[in-house]
Amino acid sequence: MARIAIDAAVVERPGAPFRIERLEIDPPRPGQVLVRVRACGICHTDMIMRDGDLPVPFPAVLGHEGAGVIAAVGQDVDHVMPGDSVLLSFHSCGACPACHAHQPGYCVDFVPRNFLGVLQPGEGGLWRGDQPVGSNIFGQSAFATYALAHRDNVVKVDADLPLALLAPLGCGIQTGAGTVLETLKVAPGESVAILGAGAVGLSAVMAAVIAEAGRIAILDRHAHRLDLARQLGAIETASEIADLVGLFDYVLDTTGVLALLEPAVALLTQRGTLALIAAYPPGTAGLDASAIMSMGRRIVGIVEGGVNPRQFIPRLITYYRDGRLPIEKIIKAYDFVDIEQAFAASQNGSVIKAVIAIY
Ligand SMILES: [Zn+2]
Ligand SMILES: [Zn+2]
Repeated sequence: MARIAIDAAVVERPGAPFRIERLEIDPPRPGQVLVRVRACGICHTDMIMRDGDLPVPFPAVLGHEGAGVIAAVGQDVDHVMPGDSVLLSFHSCGACPACHAHQPGYCVDFVPRNFLGVLQPGEGGLWRGDQPVGSNIFGQSAFATYALAHRDNVVKVDADLPLALLAPLGCGIQTGAGTVLETLKVAPGESVAILGAGAVGLSAVMAAVIAEAGRIAILDRHAHRLDLARQLGAIETASEIADLVGLFDYVLDTTGVLALLEPAVALLTQRGTLALIAAYPPGTAGLDASAIMSMGRRIVGIVEGGVNPRQFIPRLITYYRDGRLPIEKIIKAYDFVDIEQAFAASQNGSVIKAVIAIY
């Protein structure tokens, strides 16, 4: 199989706009799959990468909530075949202790395999003439008509499912829902406060309802997001952290705002847990060590919900089919040619989860 021509949204340099252009993609090597992409969600991390705040190799093709149909498989791939519908998730090595423990979000190789666009020797990629283009972001680079993904980050799903709705399960939605259901294992009647009503925060609300949490509170500056959070099951809403009253078993920070962390700790009950699940800027948060120690409080960092996507995404799809994960309420679809408009709406907060439909 030779290289094939594809259309991809290329970011030329940090902060540059997305421009759709013709590139070529290599055929799948052993352990890889070639996916005809049908949709890809926009995640906050895409904005961080576009702006050059992660060391992405430019020019680059981003996009890490891809969904599509398998076009070809390389050697040593036996769980999917051409024609299968798939969702794409993050990439991991499959061989380190965390991967063996079904905790691929803590793979020792997580950063290079997801942020750096680094391919292992012998793995293929994207080409502009004879010049390589930064690809393999999150093991996919799915703002394109085709993407090369890997054995470990491809999840087969039923052909009748709407790929444009389910694409974000592979990052944003599993991050919020996995935190609640898989890592924290919120129990019926427990209380949860969620800081930030973006896609991750609202997914956490939906999951807290599934977990039958007792009190679900949410903080956000946008009134329309709080309205949506209420529709999804949040009981209490606040626009300032000082307006959250009482103590909670769990506080989830999805904002990445360091100044919120000290007041977040103060919202925890005895032995309560603060989960850090956002992208954080460099720097430190001033924390009151005595207030953590004396109450037995915990602070835990969680990557991608702490889930194994190949096990957890099928569980999310079951909730979706049962009407318990109404993700259609947070998604807005955009045509591929309108990708800049979709990023602008995501950045200004007017759209919660934009999904690009790839022609
Ligand atoms: Zn690993
Ligand atoms: Zn993401």
